[in-house]
Amino acid sequence: MNKWVYTFGAGKAQGNAKQKELLGGKGANLAEMSNIGIPVPPGFTITTDVCNYYYDNNENYPSELNQKVLDAVRDIENITKMNFGGKDYPLLLSVRSGARASMPGMMDTVLNLGLNDETVKGLSKESGDSRFAYDSYRRFIQMYGDVVLGIDSIEFEEIIEEEKRINNIVLDTEVSSEIWENIIILYKKLVKKRTGNDFPQDPIKQLWGAVSAVFSSWMNQRAITYRKLNYIPESWGTAVNIQSMVFGNMGNDCCTGVAFTRNPSSGDNNYYGEYLINAQGEDVVAGIRTPQNLTIKGRKDQNADALSMEESIPEVYSELTNIFEKLEKHYKDMQDIEFTVQKNKLWILQTRSGKRTSAAAVKIAVDMYNEKLISKDDAIIRIEPLGLDQLLHPTLDPDAEKKIIIKGLPASPGAASGKVVFNSNKAEDLANNGESVILVRMETSPEDIHGMYAAKGILTSRGGMTSHAAVVARGMGRACVVGAGDIIIDSDHNEFKSNDISVKEGDIITIDGSSGEVILGEVSTIMPKLSKEFTELMQWADEVRSLKVRTNAETPKDVKVALEFGAEGIGLCRTEHMFFDSDRILAVREMIFSDNADDRRSALQKIAPMQKKDFTEIFNLMKELPVTIRLLDPPLHEFLPKEEDEIEELSKNLNQDASTIRSRVLQLEEQNPMLGHRGCRLGITFPEIYEMQARSIFESAIDVTKKLKIKIVPEIMVPLIISETELIFIKNRIDNVAKLVEKETEEKIEYLVGTMVELPRAALNADEISKYADFFSFGTNDLTQTALGISRDDSGKFLPDYIDQNLIEFDPFISIDINGVGKLVSIASELGRNKNKNIKLGICGEHGGDPKSIDFFHKTGLNYVSCSPFRVPIARLSAAQSKIRNG
Ligand code: PEP
Ligand code: MG
Repeated sequence: MNKWVYTFGAGKAQGNAKQKELLGGKGANLAEMSNIGIPVPPGFTITTDVCNYYYDNNENYPSELNQKVLDAVRDIENITKMNFGGKDYPLLLSVRSGARASMPGMMDTVLNLGLNDETVKGLSKESGDSRFAYDSYRRFIQMYGDVVLGIDSIEFEEIIEEEKRINNIVLDTEVSSEIWENIIILYKKLVKKRTGNDFPQDPIKQLWGAVSAVFSSWMNQRAITYRKLNYIPESWGTAVNIQSMVFGNMGNDCCTGVAFTRNPSSGDNNYYGEYLINAQGEDVVAGIRTPQNLTIKGRKDQNADALSMEESIPEVYSELTNIFEKLEKHYKDMQDIEFTVQKNKLWILQTRSGKRTSAAAVKIAVDMYNEKLISKDDAIIRIEPLGLDQLLHPTLDPDAEKKIIIKGLPASPGAASGKVVFNSNKAEDLANNGESVILVRMETSPEDIHGMYAAKGILTSRGGMTSHAAVVARGMGRACVVGAGDIIIDSDHNEFKSNDISVKEGDIITIDGSSGEVILGEVSTIMPKLSKEFTELMQWADEVRSLKVRTNAETPKDVKVALEFGAEGIGLCRTEHMFFDSDRILAVREMIFSDNADDRRSALQKIAPMQKKDFTEIFNLMKELPVTIRLLDPPLHEFLPKEEDEIEELSKNLNQDASTIRSRVLQLEEQNPMLGHRGCRLGITFPEIYEMQARSIFESAIDVTKKLKIKIVPEIMVPLIISETELIFIKNRIDNVAKLVEKETEEKIEYLVGTMVELPRAALNADEISKYADFFSFGTNDLTQTALGISRDDSGKFLPDYIDQNLIEFDPFISIDINGVGKLVSIASELGRNKNKNIKLGICGEHGGDPKSIDFFHKTGLNYVSCSPFRVPIARLSAAQSKIRNG
């Protein structure tokens, strides 16, 4: 038979901390505290099973529940020696919700339950304070009226205000017992008027009203929305906790407060909290009175005068801090505690693991290991990897005021403020003059790289999480919000509009790439420093993990950042990004517009020294660490001139007239460039391009090898392969170039040739391809795009609806689609290793920096993940967590 009800109090309990699913977080911890001798007001928990029963049975309860609740109330009476509904020593109860996950303020609470016209007299006699007793009764009617009977609290407040006005009183504390009694009469009239019934006098009836209201509040709109935002399933249900009331408002020897056992913002090992004398719990939260500091240190830090609890009631304070110590040791985590002192007697009302900033989380975990409370593995597991973003990028000052214009997708974390500009050249000009700018574009293209570099942040109205803007911004560590679909950019007038707000070029906005918010005006930011605890924790993670972490980087600046963050190699150097500099693009265009291989070669000759310089810089920085260089990938049309002045410039250079250039541009345009002439297809039609790149790689590797006296083994990667025949074709040419360079330089070259696996056919044909590849790198951006048939640049238009409608759980461009794309990765890994047991397997799509995906890659047995520089620490930690969890 189902138990339905679990009691606790007086040093014992029927439940414990492990039963959060059944008792909810609050109920499980109340039981646990009772078991370990912490003073909690006795009570009982009605389980989440009852909540589910209630909703499965048309809001009815199991038949045996009534008796179980009555028995449990009897238990409280026995412990407290009070009577529920009794004229003498009346027992009053609190009724609170408590789901498995904390849902602060989302559900309902009723306090002082059990008061009626008779018991209020008992309370008055027992407390010796009739003012307190009638104030408690009116609070109860008001709370019950609001939560259970659905009468707006404002209607009650209006009655109080009117009575205060009539009696010439300003503060609630000046209201006398007689006036409260009068207010109670008016309250009861209001209840009768609004509900047609008298205010319930029977305490048992009151109790069931409150219990039902709390269960019903599981389905109120606030709770539903909160669950959705926090991925809390409806099926969890809430428990209801009923406890004997304790009063922090029974006089000046009473107080109530909240405390953290360590500082939740910095993680410092200091108690941190607030309390209010002669007050009830909600008064602390409601902000009507300013609470006082718990500790002397807190008071001094805040330059406050009002006495701390440490000073005003030192004995109770010391009892409280003993409990802090006991709870921290017991739970082995920082605790967030609510307490009440009634006539110098301390009661703990709640404990739970305290929410904290990422900086605090890291400090607390490392400190707790040093204090021998937890193991290194525990410390590693406790840190939320994505939270590390907070530590790596400037973040908005949480205390600042914000006027939000719109919310887009949070594409690259960090926050940035600056003047709005709508084109990249302007962004660069302004930045060169020392201005901070936010580049606002419909979408970005590789030609915007310099503008993106110059900008502090990038905002686009189109595109998803793997759009060009998103990928590049993350790589550069720029704040970026993409797909802010409701802004309309009017480039003719240099302004954008969102609803009725219009923002002109030069106006200041702030974007928060961690939340997707776009805010009018400047919001101050803070740049957190990497602490010694952070470094220590990351070292522990490195000792544990088996998955290596590389980075996607192609500029010396990115490479340096990645190395600082602990990258163990470059997993993807996208060479196309190197061709967009203003001094190179012309030569690239000459190459594209060449009619024959000879002309193409001579144009390539202009680019070759620049490529060699790029690779030399990278090898110099990376030394012996592995570097995977991907041969040119994107569709050629991305390099085509678009603006009239670019066409004019090219026409002069090529000695062809502008109309010829224009018609060639039209010829090269593709209907579907992502599936068009890109990747290895370029290397097949124009082998000279890849030959030039291979030569630059080999020559620079030889130069750096000689200079630094180290061994460099470049890894050359061919993009967009579907068949081994393509790879053989290109590999043969690379090998030939190597032989030529060896002959010319009389140096031996060691190198690897591998391929991206980023098309479904490549994954399914991986056994054949692997015979000719030293490594595979999964390009999960294109693999997701092609396996799902969803354009990576347009997904932002409809995938959010899929998530809203619960059709998919995550954006597959952020977190790997395990059942589809993941299967292709597993199949390809297995097929590849079957035919080539030494093949190295990595992933370089955006998923390489996503913790859930990293867990999958670890389990699939890949050798490394590669991600943008700012994701490297996140990947290191995630890889360690996967190893700890899965072995
Ligand atoms: C990929 O497709 O996952 C990849 C890394 O290549 P790109 O994003 O450059 O297409
Ligand atoms: Mg790709």
